[in-house]
Amino acid sequence: MTTPSIAVREVMKSLDDLLPGRVERDAPSGALTTYRCGGPIAALARIDRSDDLARLAGVLGPHPDVPILVIGRGSNLLISDAGFAGVAIALGGEFERIDVRPGGNSVGNSVRVRVDAGSAAPLPVLARQAAQAGVGGLEFFVGIPGSVGGAVRMNAGGHGAETKDVIVSARVFDLATAQARELGVGELAFGYRSSALGARDVVVAAGFAGRDDDPAACEARIDDIVRWRREHQPGGQNAGSVFTNPPGDTAGRLIDACGLKGVRVGGVVVSEKHANFFAAGPGAHADDVVALMDLVRDRVEAATGVRLVPELQLVGFADPSEEAPG
Ligand code: FAD
Repeated sequence: MTTPSIAVREVMKSLDDLLPGRVERDAPSGALTTYRCGGPIAALARIDRSDDLARLAGVLGPHPDVPILVIGRGSNLLISDAGFAGVAIALGGEFERIDVRPGGNSVGNSVRVRVDAGSAAPLPVLARQAAQAGVGGLEFFVGIPGSVGGAVRMNAGGHGAETKDVIVSARVFDLATAQARELGVGELAFGYRSSALGARDVVVAAGFAGRDDDPAACEARIDDIVRWRREHQPGGQNAGSVFTNPPGDTAGRLIDACGLKGVRVGGVVVSEKHANFFAAGPGAHADDVVALMDLVRDRVEAATGVRLVPELQLVGFADPSEEAPG
């Protein structure tokens, strides 16, 4: 793996003392991402409590050059085969809570209901709990296998809605200053699969507004979304859309139109079911995914003039031009 810098090694030593038993050295990254490939992570801190996050910030604060990676459900991440020579943070414990508050405020003809969730809460669980409680509007999250934190960072969306449409605010802990702040939609500055959050901003919780609705109607919409996903998207090892959709078109349509479904590099193939999904098989390498991305991007550009932009967050690759923006 890539050798960690002296600063990273100093940080690792301090973390061993401050968070005993919760920092894993050379942690295999495959188990942390839905692509299930990639090299080791120099230091993986598993953080279950806010005060441990503050301790972590105390160690990282004086080292602004140490690379940081917050990992949610790893459903939009590709970690290089060389690994990540920095500190990765995986949240669990108190960050997994979901709190659907009964009652709500009347807005026009509908009643808005507040749902609060920790950043490590899985989006499908959030969607189902909200639906069961008769809170409408969050159903689209059922098809996105990420966490609340990942959804905020990426402005995840689908089925006609995005995170920015339902979020009220996010609580964000800044690892550089060890301060938490509540950010509203304006400050989060959401764009298409992007937000204003940087690598040292850790989403710890978010509040969403749903509307008072019939649980059966909400659950029927959940079933429709799940059915649609099964019919149109592959299961297995992938990270959803590889590229963002260019204005006025979809990456999947362009890749399909170029006849690239089924094209393979090593253990990774352009899905026959959805051309913007790359399916990894046993023994697949992160380098295979990147090589297939390059091949597809070049072929699509040569045929259509459109240069596709990665949606996938690439981590630990030598060429920064490969990395997705944000
Ligand atoms: P990760 O993949 O772990 O991380 C993604 C980014 O978010 C990284 O930059 C990471 O550092 C950052 N991050 C994660 N947690 C935090 C946190 N707590 N604080 C700060 N930053 C954080 N996406 C869509 O938008 N729409 C879809 O319809 C969709 N469908 C998908 C279908 C499949 C089968 C799969 C595998 C993926 C799909 N995705 C989709 C992609 C992915 O699920 C989303 O981008 C999701 O929001 C990523 O969340 P995550 O927790 O997995 O984040």
